[in-house]
Amino acid sequence: MITQEAAGWQQPDWQRQQADLITEPGALLELLGLEPADLPGHLAAAADFPLRVPRRYAALMEPGNPDDPLLRQVLSAPEELHDSPGFGQDPLDEAEHTAVPGLLHKYHGRALLVVTGACAVHCRYCFRRHFPYQTHLSGQRWQQALDWLAGRPDISEIILSGGDPLTLTNRRLAQLLEALAALPHLKRLRIHSRTPVVIPERLDDELLALLAAPRWQTTLVLHANHPREVSEALAARCRLWRNQGITLLNQSVLLAGVNDCTKTLCDLSETLFAAGVLPYYLHLLDRVKGAAHFIVTDDRARILHWQLRGRLPGYLVPRLTREEPGEDAKTVIAG
Ligand SMILES: *Cc1c(COP(=O)(O)O)cnc(C)c1O
Ligand code: SF4
Repeated sequence: MITQEAAGWQQPDWQRQQADLITEPGALLELLGLEPADLPGHLAAAADFPLRVPRRYAALMEPGNPDDPLLRQVLSAPEELHDSPGFGQDPLDEAEHTAVPGLLHKYHGRALLVVTGACAVHCRYCFRRHFPYQTHLSGQRWQQALDWLAGRPDISEIILSGGDPLTLTNRRLAQLLEALAALPHLKRLRIHSRTPVVIPERLDDELLALLAAPRWQTTLVLHANHPREVSEALAARCRLWRNQGITLLNQSVLLAGVNDCTKTLCDLSETLFAAGVLPYYLHLLDRVKGAAHFIVTDDRARILHWQLRGRLPGYLVPRLTREEPGEDAKTVIAG
C-alpha cells in the first residue's frame, strides 16, 4: 500500500488516474448503486476481454441508471458471448495491410503506426478486441517501421494509433516523435485517442509542448461517443490546445443504446464545437465478434444522419462512414 502510494507521488496526475481502475463488473455496478441482474454473464464476458474502467470515467455515469450510455460502453455484457453470423475476429482484414509489424498502410499518403496495444479504457464494441497486439509495435520494432517510412517519400501524414497512443508516457512519445521528425517528408502528425475522454488530465502541458512544436501540423482526433463524455474538464483543455494551434477533431461510433438518437448526436456535435472540436466521422460499427448488440442498421443510420443535416450547420455534421476491407478510403455512406 505504502509503496504504491509513494510511487504515486512521482507520477503525473494522469498516470495516477490511469492506474485508478475498476476491473470487476460487480464493483462497477455497486459503485453506481445497481443490482446485477446476471452477474455470472457479465463475469463470463469479462473473462474474454477484461473490464477496464478508469474511476475518472465512471464518475461521469449516472448512478442508479442501468441503461446509462457511458456504462453500456464499458460494462461487459452476457450478449457478448452470443455468436452472430457475419461478426468475425478481424473484420477489417488488417492483417492484410500490415506493411511491417505495427505499421498499417492502407490509404494514399497516410500511414498508421500501432504504437501500443494498451488502452486507458476497454470499450466493449472495440474492433481491436481480438487484435494480435503482440505482433505489433513495441520497443525495438519501432526501428523497422521507421526504416519502412524512410523509404516512402509519398507518405506525408503519420497517424499514431493503437490501442491508444496517449497511454504512452510523454518521454516515450517524445522519443518516437524525435525519430519521426527526422523524416522530412512527414508533414502532418495525427493522433487518435480516447484517453482524454476518460482522463482529461492526459492533455497535460508537457504533451502540448511536444505536439504544438513547429515541426508538425498536428491534429488530435478524440473519440467521444456521447455528449456527457465531453466533460467541462475535457472542454477546458481542448480550448487551450486549440489556442496553441492543434487541430481538434472527433470521431464517434454509432452505437445502439448509446448514441443512436438524433438529439444525442446533435448535443454531441454542439458540445464538441463549444470545446473547439469539430465532428469528423460517425462510424458504423465494425462487425466484430461480441459486439452485435451495438449494431445500428444502415437504414436507421441514414435516417439519423439525414435528421442531423436538417438540424445542424453542415460543419457540425460528421460524415457517416464505414470501413470496408479493400477500399482505398473509408466508405462514405452519407456526407
Ligand atoms: C481510418 C484510417 C486512416 C485515416 O483515414 P482518414 O480518412 O484520413 O481519416 C488511415 N489508415 C488506416 C489504416 C485507417 O483505418
Ligand atoms: S482501441 Fe479505442 S475503442 Fe478500442 S478499447 Fe481502446 S479506446 Fe476503446
